[in-house]
Amino acid sequence: MCYPDRIKLTDRTPLESQKAYCLVNLRVLNFYAGPTALPQPVMERIQSELMNFQGTGMSVMEISHRAREIEFLLADTIERTRRVLGLTDEFEVLLLQGGGSLQFSMIPMNLSAPDDPVDYLDTGYWAQKAIREAQATGRDVAIIASSADKGYSYVPPTASIQPRPDAKYLHLVTNNTVEGTQFHQMPQVAVPLVADMSSDLMSDSFESESYDFAYAHTQKNIGIAGLTLVIIRRSMLTGIPDNVPTILDYRTHSQYHSNYHTPPSFAIYVTWLMLGWLEDEIGGLAKMGEINHRKAETLYDYLDSTPFYCCPVQPSSRSRMNVVFTLPSPQLLGQFLAAAEDSGMVGLGGHRSVGGCRASLFNGVTLESVNRLVDFMHGFERQHQFTRSRIANT
Ligand SMILES: *Cc1c(COP(=O)(O)O)cnc(C)c1O
Repeated sequence: MCYPDRIKLTDRTPLESQKAYCLVNLRVLNFYAGPTALPQPVMERIQSELMNFQGTGMSVMEISHRAREIEFLLADTIERTRRVLGLTDEFEVLLLQGGGSLQFSMIPMNLSAPDDPVDYLDTGYWAQKAIREAQATGRDVAIIASSADKGYSYVPPTASIQPRPDAKYLHLVTNNTVEGTQFHQMPQVAVPLVADMSSDLMSDSFESESYDFAYAHTQKNIGIAGLTLVIIRRSMLTGIPDNVPTILDYRTHSQYHSNYHTPPSFAIYVTWLMLGWLEDEIGGLAKMGEINHRKAETLYDYLDSTPFYCCPVQPSSRSRMNVVFTLPSPQLLGQFLAAAEDSGMVGLGGHRSVGGCRASLFNGVTLESVNRLVDFMHGFERQHQFTRSRIANT
């Protein structure tokens, strides 16, 4: 793949551009698994006030984090997060850095002490990364359920999930971005529930009663890389051990209202706009959930209608965010990905650890994009079904 060619779109002749990017403003249909597509109104708003944030005469990137405009931005992002998620005062919202991955370490360090029992579900790639970090902090980690037996093609039934009574928490990944599985119901357990929602927070209604701790970086459904949202029940801030380094201690960020050290203000700004878009243009998370259901249904219905493509995930565990599928042969897979790029559709390759295809349908991807993907897939199928049957008949 030739990246410079992709980046320098203006070097293409008009004809080439038309062929490869027959889309509005040279924008492709983006199915990347994160970072990924942002809604057009959000991009336009960023463009329009890039040089002059809210009449300050400065870009949001140029303003001191101690200035009142940034103080406002932080406070209002937290406020919007509360409103969109419907959080009560029992919860604290923290704006952190370090991505989903840093939470894999911060969670055991803050919510338990060395040798404490902590329970995890093993549902694939990201769950395992979380497990390894908890083990590295010297906790007594138990994997109380796993879907490894069937290649992570399902999530364990919630009724079967029984954490140890003395576990400090149960950690799970609500949407398994790599494997294309998702919990559609949270387990009801007697220990605090800690959820990595990096790839589905704010994609649908949020039932705050089900969680004690939820976290998500923003580059999948709610912005760009650089910011991680942590939703923590305030009662969980009281048991934090005293030897946690200051910057890794949730209490620091709570005490300083997420402005203890220089926050990633541009990433926060984008999430602030995404939250405004969710509230004002989409009409809240229930509406966003309906749109996301329709997007996923459109693609799964098509996959189920043909033997040409195959979705390896058990129907009841299928993710509404990441739809994984395979083609009849590695040759066809390569041709499919190349033809998709030629038609202006990018990011359809599966995660490097599993291969195959994956279409990520995060909040920024429109239903129209999904319809166009299905049209493209249908065309590809017809073309190659024909060649295959001709070969079979000779
Ligand atoms: C992408 C992803 C991560 C990794 O997040 P980083 O911000 O890259 O550290 C963690 N968990 C899940 C479920 C993810 O999808």
